[in-house]
Amino acid sequence: MSDQVLVIGNGGREHTLAWKLAASPQVKHVFVAPGNAGTANQGKISNSEIPVSDHAAVTQFCKENDIALVVVGPEAPLAAGLVDDLTSAGVKCFGPTSQAAQLEASKSFAKDFMDRHGIPTARWKAFTDPQEACNFITSADFPALVVKASGLAAGKGVIVAANKGEACRAVQEIMQNKAFGAAGETVVVEELLEGEEVSCLCFSDGITVAPMPPAQDHKRLMDGDHGPNTGGMGAYCPTPQVSEDLLLKIKDAVLQKTVDGIRGEGASYVGVLYAGLMLTKDGPRVLEFNCRFGDPECQVILPLLKSDLYEVMQATIEGKLSSSMPAWLKDHVAVTVVMASGGYPGDYSKGLEITGLSKAEELGLKVFHAGTAVKDGRVMTNGGRVLAVTAIKSDLMSALEEANKGAAVIQYPGAIYRKDIGYRAIAFAKQPRGLTYKD
Ligand code: AMP
Repeated sequence: MSDQVLVIGNGGREHTLAWKLAASPQVKHVFVAPGNAGTANQGKISNSEIPVSDHAAVTQFCKENDIALVVVGPEAPLAAGLVDDLTSAGVKCFGPTSQAAQLEASKSFAKDFMDRHGIPTARWKAFTDPQEACNFITSADFPALVVKASGLAAGKGVIVAANKGEACRAVQEIMQNKAFGAAGETVVVEELLEGEEVSCLCFSDGITVAPMPPAQDHKRLMDGDHGPNTGGMGAYCPTPQVSEDLLLKIKDAVLQKTVDGIRGEGASYVGVLYAGLMLTKDGPRVLEFNCRFGDPECQVILPLLKSDLYEVMQATIEGKLSSSMPAWLKDHVAVTVVMASGGYPGDYSKGLEITGLSKAEELGLKVFHAGTAVKDGRVMTNGGRVLAVTAIKSDLMSALEEANKGAAVIQYPGAIYRKDIGYRAIAFAKQPRGLTYKD
């Protein structure tokens, strides 16, 4: 046990990464920058206040602390080239370069890339002129109702319109009123797809892809998928909606093709590749690529990883995945229930004391912190999504029941959470839709 690791980020995803990396016998210590209350002085894990956007400062920290591996959680530092700068300074880093991260950072790049490589996605067109975008919405021979800011908009830059008028107003909102700032200088107008949405992730060493078990996120705030979109209110894994056969198809038609395509264009995709997919009646279609773990998907996928995450990440960056494919727990289902602040995703208060955390842990649950901070020795709310309670059981219903029990014992004023995570899988088990996928 000798290696020190640095995880970049402060959400539930990063707490999960730090927890799983700390479980490796080879890891002596995990620093998280900036981290949250869940990663503050927890055994092998502690926080560090490095200014993450200052790549020279991160490099200096790594050299001074003999960091053997940096793991970048969120998309912004990847797009900003943190991996490029650390790698050229001789620091080992898990995550794609800024060039490969374009798959997430520019939706128009991703759509062009998918067309070039025959990766199935919604029909689309990109615009820099609002009037042309609106003309296209009005005249397209398919429902061109999804309007996306092309750049990074913290997961908020997509508007799914109910009709053409609303779609044109979305263009105006993004391009003229600059709702998402510079991210909306180019918009992608896309065909509205219908079906189940799933998240299929893999590790990629640039050549070999190792798919993770498929997961399903719950974006809407309230039970039954009502209310506004959020960063994600809960997830479960694996989802029965992606059978082993379908996962193989997705691996070949999407994940492998993407990694091969990036390599064919002179770059290399190393890290986690996340495909957000719509399972349409004509087969899976890519809605988006992310160049890192999803949050909250990470909180249900990594607890099912049987292998040592540190070893998997090392094998990934060394191009040795094919000889050390990760192993996953079979016959287990993980459910995570996200607890958010009252008012989220709109305005909310911070600084409210959270109680009951140890009670949830006593129930055998894992609590991954997100928007939390320590003040005077107490754990306080510090963000919209506050924490996620993960349960692992042999079936979905028991895992959901356990996670809900955990959420019920954790308290702070105004806490909100969904009680129906995984309901689509439960419905699917009762009545598989029997879709036949053409491709
Ligand atoms: P994205 O960030 O591109 O994944 O979009 C955010 C959300 O918008 C997705 O999770 C979907 O729920 C929805 N969405 C995106 N693209 C489409 C599409 N072409 N058809 C229907 N819904 C979509």
